[in-house]
Amino acid sequence: MQKDIATPIRTKEILNKYGFLFKKSLGQNFLIDPNILRNITDAAGLTKTSGAIEIGPGIGALTEHLAKSCQKVLAFEIDGRLLPILEDTLSPYPNVEILHQDVLKADLKALITEKLHDIQDIMVVANLPYYVTTPIIMKLLEERLPLRGMVVMLQKEVADRIAAGPGTKEYGSLSIAIQYYTIPETVMIVPKTVFMPQPNVDSAVIRLRTRERPVVQVLNEVFFFDIIRKSFAQRRKTLLNNLSNGFGKEKKELILEVLHKTNIDPKRRGETLSIEEFGKLSDCLWVSFNPKS
Ligand code: SAM
Repeated sequence: MQKDIATPIRTKEILNKYGFLFKKSLGQNFLIDPNILRNITDAAGLTKTSGAIEIGPGIGALTEHLAKSCQKVLAFEIDGRLLPILEDTLSPYPNVEILHQDVLKADLKALITEKLHDIQDIMVVANLPYYVTTPIIMKLLEERLPLRGMVVMLQKEVADRIAAGPGTKEYGSLSIAIQYYTIPETVMIVPKTVFMPQPNVDSAVIRLRTRERPVVQVLNEVFFFDIIRKSFAQRRKTLLNNLSNGFGKEKKELILEVLHKTNIDPKRRGETLSIEEFGKLSDCLWVSFNPKS
C-alpha cells in the first residue's frame, strides 16, 4: 500500500524526483498533513456516486483522497510542469481526469455536461490558489453551475469576510455576494505548518451550501450588485453619500425619497444593511430610476 502523498517525506521525495520548484505566483502551497485532507474530504460529504471538481491538484495530495471517496474527480491544473507528476502519483486512480487549464478561462458548464453528465451530486473541493480565491469562487457561483456546494481552503481573512453578518467590520460586498447564492460556514482554522512551503497568512476551510433560490428575489440582479458595490465604495461615508456619489448628485433627492420609502435611515452606513434591506432598496431604486419599465 502506497503512503499518502501528503506527508512531508513523500512530498519531498516527489518534488526531488522531478526537480520541481514552487511558483509563488501560482499560489503553490501544498498540503502535507493527511488529517487535514481527511477533514476536508469528510466535510464535502461525498459518496461513491458523487463527483468532485478540484481546482489546482498540485502533486495530487487532495486528489487522491477525493478519488477514494467519490465516483469521479475532474481537476483543473494551470501549471504544465505538474502534469507528468500527477500522471505518476495518481496512476492508481483511474477515476481522476486532469485538465491542463486555467479554471478562470474554462467553460465549466460545458465541461460538467461533457465529463460529469452521469453524476447528480457534484461538489467543488479545493485548496485554492490564494492569489485568485475570490475570482474563482465568484465564477463558480455566477455561472450557476449544478453544484451541491463547495468545500475550500482559503485565507482566514477571506473566510471571515465571506461569513460576516451586518454591523461587523468584515461585512461587505463579498459577504453579500456569497451569501446571496450560498449558506457559508467555517469548517476549521488551519495552521501554516500543514503547508509546504508555508504561506504568509492563516488559512481556513469553509463550506458553502448552494441555496435552491437566492436569498432575496430582486427585480434586476445586475442593478442589485451595483447598488451593493456603490454602497460600500467608501466605508466611512453614509449610504446616501455613497449612493449619490455613485449615481450622480442629480439623483440625490430621488435616492433620499427611496430611502425614506424603504424605512432605511439615510445616515446609516452600507455595512449595517442586511441582504434583505439591500434587496428592498435595490427594487425601489430600480422602479424610481426606470418609471416606465
Ligand atoms: N491541491 C494541492 C494541495 O493541496 O497540496 C495544491 C494546492 S495549491 C494551494 C494551488 C494549486 O492551484 C497549484 O497547483 C497551482 O499550480 C494551481 N493553480 C493556480 N492558479 C490556477 C488556475 N488559475 N487554474 C487552475 N489551477 C491553478
